[in-house]
Amino acid sequence: MNKRDYYEILGVSKTATKEEIKKAYRQLAMKYHPDRNPGNKEAEDKFKEAASAYEVLSDDQKRKKYDQYGDSADTMGGFGGYNGQEMNMDDIFSSFGDIFGDIFGQGQQQKKSKKKGGPEPKHGHDLHKSINITLKEAYTGTKQEIQYYRFFPCDACGAKGTKSGSSAQTCKNCNGAGQINIRQGFFMYSQTCSTCRGEGYIITDPCTRCSGQSRIQNYDKFTVNIPKGVFNGAELRIPGKGDAGVYGGNAGDLFIQINIAPDKKFQRMEDDLIVKVTLTYPQLVFGSQIEIENIDGSKVAIKIPKGCPVDEKLIIPGKGFERLRGKGTGNLVVITQCHIPKKLDSQAHDLLKDYAKIIGDTPTEEAGGIGAFFKKFLG
Ligand SMILES: [Zn+2]
Ligand SMILES: [Zn+2]
Repeated sequence: MNKRDYYEILGVSKTATKEEIKKAYRQLAMKYHPDRNPGNKEAEDKFKEAASAYEVLSDDQKRKKYDQYGDSADTMGGFGGYNGQEMNMDDIFSSFGDIFGDIFGQGQQQKKSKKKGGPEPKHGHDLHKSINITLKEAYTGTKQEIQYYRFFPCDACGAKGTKSGSSAQTCKNCNGAGQINIRQGFFMYSQTCSTCRGEGYIITDPCTRCSGQSRIQNYDKFTVNIPKGVFNGAELRIPGKGDAGVYGGNAGDLFIQINIAPDKKFQRMEDDLIVKVTLTYPQLVFGSQIEIENIDGSKVAIKIPKGCPVDEKLIIPGKGFERLRGKGTGNLVVITQCHIPKKLDSQAHDLLKDYAKIIGDTPTEEAGGIGAFFKKFLG
């Protein structure tokens, strides 16, 4: 049988570079790949033929020999026993796996195997909790005890996971890679190693306390300091109070979200504390000195100016929330409201009627309600 020239098979010149040869082979391998040509004997032969050509021309020494002796070198066993049609698919894959890896995107992943040796320390998870406080507690600052379960490093084994003295063994099934490559037809794919469950190591004598997990779940409680001026929805980070890492990895953090319940009387606006205060008409007209109770129970003196309108904002500096960022304190903002009595005693009633007359007001309400008003108005 006359064998075709290897350069001809790959469609390259005799002076082709290694890159050109590789590129040409890849193109042919893609074209005649049996998965793309199922049951096509001719494609399979071409696929094998290209592999044989590549096998020789990609190797400097074999290529040199081939250039010197041609086909005869083949019969001398100079090409490692591969011979065109006899080369089977498994040989092609084991010889040129990197080519197929590149083509089918697996080569890179296979190279990224895990480090051999014992368990890799991993960072513990962060944990999240929430705490409910009142607006008053946000104003004054408070302490609250928090209770929860989290992972602690196992002290019986020093977070090693093994009985004292021993260490984890590299998994022999996958050589520590955690994955094994499986060839099916012409595809190679990776599967998690079942012997070590993908860990790459095996603990033959696990610590009895933590069952080889290197950490155990336990109850924890501590007191959280909630600073003055904390905002609703703020998250406090407590470093190292999350789950312990595995095999000596760093612990995660605990994040505590602060939920502030609304107050019936006071409101918050940024760092200011807002409160409405109800005054009588004479208090607003004549002005007055009053005292109110702040949210923390402390007394605050307030001067209502003469002729103070309703909805006036009176600012009492420094009596609001402490600023978390930066220095200083917000203000207490007092919003004036007017108390309108539903009933007056007869003396107050008469005085107010006189007052109304003086200012030219003609209240009509008690003379028969809305009907009387319209009667009078319409004449
Ligand atoms: Zn394994
Ligand atoms: Zn242990």
